[in-house]
Amino acid sequence: PPLPLLSVMEGPRPVVLSGPSGTGKSTLLKKLLKDYKGVFGFSVSHTTRDPRPGEVDGKDYHFRNREAMQEDIDTGEFIETDEFSGNLYGTSKCAVQDVRAKGLICILDVDIAGVRHIKESDLDPIYVSIQPPSIEVLEERLRGRATETEEKIQSRLEAARIDMEECSPLHAVDNEFSFLFLHSSVIGNEPGLFDIVIVNDDLDESYEKLQSVLKEEIMKVQQG
Ligand code: 5GP
Repeated sequence: PPLPLLSVMEGPRPVVLSGPSGTGKSTLLKKLLKDYKGVFGFSVSHTTRDPRPGEVDGKDYHFRNREAMQEDIDTGEFIETDEFSGNLYGTSKCAVQDVRAKGLICILDVDIAGVRHIKESDLDPIYVSIQPPSIEVLEERLRGRATETEEKIQSRLEAARIDMEECSPLHAVDNEFSFLFLHSSVIGNEPGLFDIVIVNDDLDESYEKLQSVLKEEIMKVQQG
């Protein structure tokens, strides 16, 4: 059912960044937050997974144990939740409202199940998928990170395979971002699922593309 609390909020459209873990999605996201201070705000998700070295509770995620998180889910505090690679992840209503109340563009980083759930809400975000150039490159990046067990790497790769199929470049899209297809490794996607798919084989290029897709919303915030 629609979430009335969110629908009454005005301001710039939120942005959903999705795509397999290990695509450089968080790197792009952090760059946006750093380069556009006072424009973007990150929706801090909840998760039951352990923090990685350097991750800060309340900034990267709200790290919770399963019981605590389940309690909050049961009391209806979440827009969406998903089980990913043996852990619970979820976007709380507060996480999004905190950012939107400040007039910032709210960025959500969710998996593909999260995308589908958010489609059922009335959040009306811009949907961006960040994809790896290939599964081999992704595997390399995941191993390079060296924060996960072999089992976790395998389960993340499996999730990535599904994700990559869902964003198959076979379908061209025809929408306001189509002009980007003229230059590029920006490609089409399953019609209706994402507004744009960016294949991240070069970080700077991908960042340029991401900025063009978000330009209109960025300008809205910058011009007050
Ligand atoms: P990681 O453990 O690498 O930080 O995240 C694993 C996956 O969970 C990523 O695909 C990420 O996008 C997704 N994720 C992070 N937060 C949320 C959330 O709040 N909801 C959903 N559905 N997925 C999330």
